[in-house]
Amino acid sequence: MNKKTYNIFIIGCQMNKSDSERIAFSLESLGYFPEEDIYKASLVVITTCGVRQSAEDRIYGLIPAVRRKNPEVKIILTGCLSAEKLVKERLGDSVDIWMPIVELDNLPSLLGEDSLGGHERDYLNLKARYESDFSAFIPIGNGCDNFCSYCYVPHARGREKYRDHKEIINEAKDLIKKGYKEITLIAQNVNSYKSADIDFPKLLKMTNDLPGDFWLRFSTSHPKDMSDELIKEMGECEKLCHHVHLPAQAGDDEVLKRMNRKYTQGHYLELIDKIRKSLNKQAGEIVSGFWMPPVAISTDIIVGFPGETEKQFRETVKLFETVKYDMAYIAQYSPRPNTAAAKMSDLVSEDEKKRRDEELNDVLGRYNLENNKKYLNRVVEVLVDSKNSRGEMIGKTKTSKTVIISDTTKSRKIGDILEVKIKSVKNFGLYGEINKDE
Ligand code: SAH
Ligand code: SF4
Repeated sequence: MNKKTYNIFIIGCQMNKSDSERIAFSLESLGYFPEEDIYKASLVVITTCGVRQSAEDRIYGLIPAVRRKNPEVKIILTGCLSAEKLVKERLGDSVDIWMPIVELDNLPSLLGEDSLGGHERDYLNLKARYESDFSAFIPIGNGCDNFCSYCYVPHARGREKYRDHKEIINEAKDLIKKGYKEITLIAQNVNSYKSADIDFPKLLKMTNDLPGDFWLRFSTSHPKDMSDELIKEMGECEKLCHHVHLPAQAGDDEVLKRMNRKYTQGHYLELIDKIRKSLNKQAGEIVSGFWMPPVAISTDIIVGFPGETEKQFRETVKLFETVKYDMAYIAQYSPRPNTAAAKMSDLVSEDEKKRRDEELNDVLGRYNLENNKKYLNRVVEVLVDSKNSRGEMIGKTKTSKTVIISDTTKSRKIGDILEVKIKSVKNFGLYGEINKDE
């Protein structure tokens, strides 16, 4: 009898990564062992993404290839496409089990195995086998109620459902006890969190106040739920890393309206001002031996939304010039099934979307270089998360700036927090060395 082995192929966002950690734990409880080679595993789980057509298209190449090279394999399809009728029709029998992630508690019976232990209805409360031993995502909810007109997520993941705060705090405590150095609270919209009388500002404070030395992050927030109370709390949470991801999606008010985003550029810019005021109180000062950088701001943007004129696109460029983002994830609009935008006319051509994407990237790079220059000769903390082919360590600052550290000594490891002096900067990266004059 062959050993039971599994491989999880992850496509998409941090929520899929986090879900995969819960799937891995459940499979290991059932006696499955991890197998790195997808073509050798007896069970392959694919965590799908439906946000863009290109993400969907990946599974149409992958699944037949896995079947061809590994005819005995059992394939589970989960993630955002697991309930999509058209995908089911197209893939037919090549998938053995279609498992919406909320049914993870049912995995033993789907696999014909006996269930171990009690029945946990909320899949977020199932245990995780964390990918990293120093940085972890904690899911605080699933689903989305916002129905932005371009977005597939509410159709795929259903309505917002939040996890009991005691479960979240217990998971955080456990991770801190194990020595985790970075904790990120995640959901489609963290700031609409609500469970009993606990809202997101309260949950953030409760997590921040846990004893221990760790970096705290959250992602991702919706501007309409970025309340004054939350912004104030963010300024008071000393463990919260000073990087705020606030997706704008577009700069033009008319486009924002058709996207169903429920804010204007003016309101968004007010939020950015308030965030900077609240989080930059000590910016530029030396705090506990380290230079305190200004809060980094990042965003998600869609270019070429149906009907977006050149003049309306210039509003997004203006937004970039005003905010001076530290990072932006720019996506070319892709029509998705069942969404309101898929029925809109006046499409922007593929060439034009590409041009707008490139123009925004240039603007981003220019302002980011300006932001990065402030780091020159400053000493900052860097959490090392990988090494490159030259053996140099790569890590992130609390503001999520990528730093390459010119030190190849074996004594420093992935997961270490190092004191680094920044020696040079580029558009999208910082270069530093271990600070010797401690
Ligand atoms: N909940 C998050 C984002 C989830 S989807 C938020 O509200 O910001 C991640 C990103 O994918 C979105 O921010 C958006 O920029 C992009 N996206 C979603 N649907 C898209 C589509 N149809 N075409 C192109 N990009 C899309
Ligand atoms: Fe999609 Fe909008 Fe919900 Fe984000 S807030 S997941 S973009 S519908």
